[in-house]
Amino acid sequence: MLMAPNTIICSFMEQELTQVDIIDLRKEPSRYWQVIAIAKAQVAEGDFKLEPIIMSDLKFDINTANLLRSLKLDEASDDAQTVLGLVEEALKVAKPKAMFKEAFIDETGHDYVVVDGIRFKSRVLRVNLGEVHRVFPYVVTAGRELDEWSSGVEGMLEQYWADQIKEAVLSAAYRDFTARLVAGHGLGTTASMNPGSLEDWPISEQRKLFDLVGDTMEGIGVELTDSYLMIPAKSVSGIRYATEVTYENCQLCSRENCPGRRAPYDPLLWEKRYK
Ligand code: SF4
Repeated sequence: MLMAPNTIICSFMEQELTQVDIIDLRKEPSRYWQVIAIAKAQVAEGDFKLEPIIMSDLKFDINTANLLRSLKLDEASDDAQTVLGLVEEALKVAKPKAMFKEAFIDETGHDYVVVDGIRFKSRVLRVNLGEVHRVFPYVVTAGRELDEWSSGVEGMLEQYWADQIKEAVLSAAYRDFTARLVAGHGLGTTASMNPGSLEDWPISEQRKLFDLVGDTMEGIGVELTDSYLMIPAKSVSGIRYATEVTYENCQLCSRENCPGRRAPYDPLLWEKRYK
């Protein structure tokens, strides 16, 4: 279908435009070529970059029965009542947020991927992104408001419970962000990778991820320290992408007794898929 001399740019643009505007473009073939010409000019000028998007209305309902169970508290106990009181306070102040953008792969090598001009070094990331052109770098946070609330909670046990409540808010907000991202961009099944989860993609790559997402301090109040820690600590960052292949970082991680494990460790996966 495409006759233009630069087939790489055109086939890339065709895929993106078809996903974004499939009905209009089929009804208006002349507009198709018009949009291609504009997009090609933008690519050539280096300004075909999409702005970050902020979600500040994430849902974050906490399942209190699950929370009490994970804290090993009897629902009728005084401690459980204290926790429920803390949950009530937390839900009043919490404002979790997400910031993400749609980004495009410029180049790949044996163990690196260049996304919107930023080079990430990871063999696993490179293999996992082998079939996609478009990715979604993101940062999701439970928010500074919740951090400030928890810093005023007194008592060691109460502080631990407040920390677990913040974790629950982050988990719920992250689920809502992911569901809305997937639905809003028609991604189907997806997977995510996070710098620092694997030796292959170390935490030092976190700075590049933040550079890719944009000004997260300005956008959602998340700061990255010189040692690559996020403030507030109840934040998560990564790159989500559409894929038919099931992937969890945990499949490549041998850490024992990890409470956050989402998939069994597969000791043969590295050899089979990434070597
Ligand atoms: S097993 Fe635990 S430490 Fe390892 S990748 Fe999964 S969540 Fe992270």
